[in-house]
Amino acid sequence: MNIRALVKPNVRRLSAYEAKEIPCRVKLDANESPYGFSFFKNIPTNRYPDPEAKELKTTLAKQLKLKSKNILVGNGSDELIYYLVTTFGGAVLYPTPTFSMYGIISKALGEKTIEIPLDPSFDLNMKKILDAIKKHKPKLLFLSSPNNPTGNCFSTERILMLIEKSKGIVVVDEAYQPFSSERGFIPFLKDYKNLLIMRTLSKIGLAALRVGFLIGDEEVINEVNKVRLPFNLNSISQALAVRALKDKKQMRSAISSIVSERERLSKELAEIKGVMAYPSEANFILFKVKNPEKVYAGLLKKGVLIRNMKGVINGCLRVTVGSKKENDIFLRALREVL
Ligand SMILES: *Cc1c(COP(=O)(O)O)cnc(C)c1O
Repeated sequence: MNIRALVKPNVRRLSAYEAKEIPCRVKLDANESPYGFSFFKNIPTNRYPDPEAKELKTTLAKQLKLKSKNILVGNGSDELIYYLVTTFGGAVLYPTPTFSMYGIISKALGEKTIEIPLDPSFDLNMKKILDAIKKHKPKLLFLSSPNNPTGNCFSTERILMLIEKSKGIVVVDEAYQPFSSERGFIPFLKDYKNLLIMRTLSKIGLAALRVGFLIGDEEVINEVNKVRLPFNLNSISQALAVRALKDKKQMRSAISSIVSERERLSKELAEIKGVMAYPSEANFILFKVKNPEKVYAGLLKKGVLIRNMKGVINGCLRVTVGSKKENDIFLRALREVL
C-alpha cells in the first residue's frame, strides 16, 4: 500500500521538526531560565520536555514487543486523532454511536464525515460500510473496540475485512482494551501497513497525565509525526507515565479489580426488574430503563452521577465501573429510584 499517496499533499511536502540534541556543558540555546522550581526531584522544570519522549517510548515498546519507531506519543488520544485527521484528511468514516471526538475533530478541521449506524447487535454493519468505502473512498476509518458507549468489541473478522478492503488507514482505538477478554490488534500490525492502533493511559488510572499512544508502521508514524507539535507531552507526564508503566503490579491489580467489579455490577443489574444491561468488555456498562430521564435525575439527586445517553442511544444510561463501595452506592440508589 502506498502510504505517501494517502497523505494530504501539504503534509507530504513537510518535514518533521527536528529536535537536535547536542551534548554540552552549558546549555544556553533555547531561551530557558536557569532557575527551575523544585517541585519534583528529577524533573528540571526550567527545561523544555524531551520532544521525542524517548524513555516513555522505549518503555512502552519493550512491553509491547515493538520498536520506539512504531510509536507516537500524544497529549491524550484526542490529540492523536487531531494529528491523524490533519495528516490524512477526509473523508473520515466511523460507525455510530461511538466516541464523539472522531466527528468533532474531523468537522472542526473541515473534513467530510461518514457516519454508519451499527447493526442491532452493536457490531459493524458491513454492507453499509463497504458500500460507503466504495462510494467515498475514506482516507480514515475510526473503530473504537471495545466501543464507547456500547461496551462491546466489534467482531475481529469484520475489522480485518475492513483493513483489507479499505484503501485508507484503519485506526483501531483500543482505549478500553485492558479491560477486554480479547487480545486486541497489536498482533496484526505486522500484516497490515494501513492498520494503526491507539492506546491511552486515561482509563487505567492516569487521566490527569494526558498520555496517548499511536502504534503502527514506521512509515505511517513518520508521516503523522510531521504534524505533531514538538513539545506536545510535558516532562511531568512523561516521567510519571514511565513510572506507571513500570509498576505492572499496581496496573494489573487495578485493572483486575475493575473487571471483577464490572462482572458483579452486570450480574446485579440483570437482577433488577426494569433494567436491561448490555454485556461489556470495557470499564462501563450501558443499560436500558423505561424512564431514563427520571432515573438519571433521581440518581443525581442522591449524589450519583452517571451518563445520560439521550440523543446518542435513546432509552439508555451509561455507568462507569467504580470501586466496590461506589458501585454499591449506585446499585442501592438505582433500586430506590426505580
Ligand atoms: C476515553 C476515550 C479515549 C481517551 O482519550 P484520551 O484523550 O487519551 O483521554 C479515546 N478513545 C475512546 C474511544 C475513549 O472512550
